[in-house]
Amino acid sequence: MSLRLSQLGEFGLIDLLRKYKGSGAGVIKGIGDDTAVVPLDAKRYLLLTTDMLMEGVHFERKTPPRLIGRKALACSISDIAAMGGRPRYALVSLGVPGSLSWAFVRDLYKGMDALARKFGVAVVGGDTVKSARLVINVALTGEVNKTDVVYRSGARPGDLIFVTGPVGKSLSTGWHLKFAPRVKQARYLVEHIKPTSMTDISDGLAADLGHILEESKVGAVLDEKKIPRRAGANLRQALYDGEDFELLFTVPRRKAALLRRNKFYLIGEIVPWSKGLLLRDKNQRLTKINIQGYTHF
Ligand SMILES: [Mg+2]
Repeated sequence: MSLRLSQLGEFGLIDLLRKYKGSGAGVIKGIGDDTAVVPLDAKRYLLLTTDMLMEGVHFERKTPPRLIGRKALACSISDIAAMGGRPRYALVSLGVPGSLSWAFVRDLYKGMDALARKFGVAVVGGDTVKSARLVINVALTGEVNKTDVVYRSGARPGDLIFVTGPVGKSLSTGWHLKFAPRVKQARYLVEHIKPTSMTDISDGLAADLGHILEESKVGAVLDEKKIPRRAGANLRQALYDGEDFELLFTVPRRKAALLRRNKFYLIGEIVPWSKGLLLRDKNQRLTKINIQGYTHF
């Protein structure tokens, strides 16, 4: 009998799909990072990412359409930022119920357009189909200098772990609809600090740090009292809620002093792979924690 997707989980499914990768020369990075990385020209790489949002999962019908459109693009811009890149061109596809009003779709596009203008993104095409539930997909390209690109795979024991802002309670506070993708911070980091690894927090601090640990083959110790939490968020919510869209990155210890002056939060350090993911509590006790955050199936 065939496995059900709910038994596989999102990442189990992605793992099984990895092998169906077609052919073609020159892929720098396929599945396994915030975006794909392919050749562009002598100095730059092209970044490719796509994000799908669905009614009832990522937003509700009562969510203001401007915010739905805004979020659909913002998630993809966040992934481009996580590679150290600049966003460029978007393709926007919609699945829409026939009962939806034109005004709703117009406002959705207005919300997206406002963010696109702010971040220098051109919407250049897309597709529409009839669908039982509202679905929106944004495919986005970006560009990054070859010398600037940051993967999830470069963290080394001794590196320090930073985050760009507070985490937890993103869904219940509406932050997930209003966040500003951290392109400027990412540009600062790649130009001045050269992080050894970076990702954005979409699945949850623990889960996304888990991606860095897995790709870099390292472990980590998080300092419970240093993790910045959104107002009202408890530790569990800060670790597992997700959709914060802050950047999570690692830097060699000798560069950390540069960051303390710049509103980046030091939350822990990278340790050898064999240690796994550990949490240091206020009494300096270490406990192993689960990386599992939000799962999609
Ligand atoms: Mg990401």
